[in-house]
Amino acid sequence: MRHVHLLGTGGTIASRQGPDGLAAVTPAAELLAAAGPLPRLTVTTSDLGTVGSFAFTTSDLRGLVAEARRCLAQGVDGVVVTQGTDTMEESAYLADLVHDDPRPIVFTGAQRPFDAAAPDGPANLADALLVAASPAARELGALLCFDGLVFAAHGVRKVETLRSGAFAAPGRGPVLRLAAASVLPLARPVRPAALPLDLAADLPRVDVVACYVGGDGALMYAAVAAGAAGLVLQAFGAGNVTPAVVAATGDLVARGIPVLVCSRVPSGPVVPLYTGGGGADLARAGAVFAHDLSPWQGRLLLAAALVLAPDAPQRVLADRLAV
Ligand code: ASP
Repeated sequence: MRHVHLLGTGGTIASRQGPDGLAAVTPAAELLAAAGPLPRLTVTTSDLGTVGSFAFTTSDLRGLVAEARRCLAQGVDGVVVTQGTDTMEESAYLADLVHDDPRPIVFTGAQRPFDAAAPDGPANLADALLVAASPAARELGALLCFDGLVFAAHGVRKVETLRSGAFAAPGRGPVLRLAAASVLPLARPVRPAALPLDLAADLPRVDVVACYVGGDGALMYAAVAAGAAGLVLQAFGAGNVTPAVVAATGDLVARGIPVLVCSRVPSGPVVPLYTGGGGADLARAGAVFAHDLSPWQGRLLLAAALVLAPDAPQRVLADRLAV
């Protein structure tokens, strides 16, 4: 008999229609009951909260990951976390950054609420529990299980607002897939070493600044004025911005504010190629390129790097992005 712990936090999977809209009110034990019979599996449950994941703070995220790790430390074979899909890629990524255990933490949720006529949550949860107990999921870090596919945390993105297949890992693909009650291995990505991040300590503010035609550096300076210790650029294409954003980057990097470059395109790496406001100029201005990491995952990595190496966050970024 394998033992998995289910940690509930809310999200659509736990939501019911109320007078003001959907509200996450269903506890983990009820989600488990709806997932149907799970032969050869003992599942214990606990609730961290019942909220929409769009309302999480970065501190909530640290608390969630710390609690999932505490559950894993109780000696189970794996942990499943249910949460809202809106920020699941961030929770899974933070969990993965610090994950130093062969056993998995598996995130799942739903696109349709608990009280929908045909909810997708029960099947997603049953799959995630199977995955958490499966030897095939060991050594893969934190995972995200949804609509029959399992993705490594690094690189996973929400790609559909409402349809059941909410997630993909563009350019990378899933690492496992469900086939009835079997878990089939597809890929084993190389995992960098876990970061020794203290989840009890605050993460510094890092803001994401979107690039668009005619954009200037005003939002970058505003973010720094609001207390940002680092910035992530959601750049055009393979990592290009406007000449004004290059100038602001050079100025801010010289003032000790690291700038990480991600793309507003969901698939493919950023590479310093072009001059005239392009990525080659950004690299010369001192920005670091985040390969294919999304801006939201890049934000967490940069915050962690600023904690672990306040004077040289670029070193942590380079190590983590090298694989
Ligand atoms: N749409 C979201 C969900 O799937 C809402 C949230 O992130 O809580 O749960």
